[in-house]
Amino acid sequence: MYLESVDNVMCKDDISLEEFLSISRDVLRRGGVDETVVIDGGSRRVVKNSKLCAVLKRIGVKFIPISYGVSEKVFISLEDLGFFDDIKPSRFRVFMDTEELLYKNWPTPLVRLRNLSSNYMRVWAKLEGFNPWSMSVKDRIGWYMYRKALEKLGKSINLLVEATSTNTGLAIAAMAAIHKSKLKAFIPSTVSKTGEVLLKIFGADVIRSQKSLTIELVNDVEEIAGKEGATHLNQFYNDANFEVHLRYTAKELELQFKEVGIEPRAVFGGLGTSGHLSAISFYFKNRFRGVKIYGVVPAPNTSIQGIRRVESGMRWVHYVEIDDIIEVTPEEAVEGVLEIVRNEGIFVGLSSGAVYVAFKKVVKEEKLSGGDYILIFPDIGFKYVEQILKYVE
Ligand code: PLP
Repeated sequence: MYLESVDNVMCKDDISLEEFLSISRDVLRRGGVDETVVIDGGSRRVVKNSKLCAVLKRIGVKFIPISYGVSEKVFISLEDLGFFDDIKPSRFRVFMDTEELLYKNWPTPLVRLRNLSSNYMRVWAKLEGFNPWSMSVKDRIGWYMYRKALEKLGKSINLLVEATSTNTGLAIAAMAAIHKSKLKAFIPSTVSKTGEVLLKIFGADVIRSQKSLTIELVNDVEEIAGKEGATHLNQFYNDANFEVHLRYTAKELELQFKEVGIEPRAVFGGLGTSGHLSAISFYFKNRFRGVKIYGVVPAPNTSIQGIRRVESGMRWVHYVEIDDIIEVTPEEAVEGVLEIVRNEGIFVGLSSGAVYVAFKKVVKEEKLSGGDYILIFPDIGFKYVEQILKYVE
């Protein structure tokens, strides 16, 4: 058995989401792999366990355990595979470009919320608003989907089209700026004026639709992509969305837990495309025993920018376990935001307010037992002044 650098092993990458989940579930549960990827000595092509090889690459290992001719039964831990090496922040925060500023700056902060924590319960917020471009969790997918598309196309991208409720559009616009592409962003009627202006500031052409949900624009955008020869990354169906959160967001949380001795009892997160919470659920359910996952959605017939109801159609949430769905009204979300900023001094977005309120609802109803609780706060509040104005005037 040899540990070969991942760049020197060519494995076929055509596996389905189901296969990816089934193999990565085993790897995460075991905490490693227990057999080698077999290489043909002459051609150096992978001849056995090619799918395992593809999965290992996608979850971000640095080394592939290989053998020649026959498979060897041998256990190699995630640590030895370099699985955690993806998360290597620059200690003195010097970055070679604004793309590195994103991925070499991870992990995003995990901060204890003092006013919700007590002697027996610690509540932690993961602040995705510390991502540098859209100041949201969506920088991760904008970066990763663009990178994957570049890899697949093997040439630069001229024009991108995407349906967005702002954040994904800003993230893709940032990648477009860095790589000299152009973005046409299609926004639903419900996006705020601020969102539209921000997209224009980032250099996107903005097309506002009559339809009220972002996902309702996807088919039209796909058609336009075909006509204009544009690249449609499509955050709603692109598995790079789920994958980046598995490979980075969830993984970095595990490292943060190790740092301070956190044993997560439950995670609360919003559902939009369902990318980040589904990946966190998948990873956590396979790595931490008994952890519960709560999804947060807007109450029926209401809208909170960034999150939406499960029945409006989401891809990954149906492949993972969500213990409960909590509904929050827009008014409650704003109250949540105000409570956070006035207790903790940090101004987070409306979906973060919703996550906070959802946590408080569960505490009240179920009297959660002691331990560590994680709230994923997707973005910053400065974008939502328009929506919050009437509550403070
Ligand atoms: N909150 C905000 C502010 C968002 O922009 C989004 C996604 O657009 C979400 C929550 C939901 O994240 P996900 O798409 O990963 O479910």
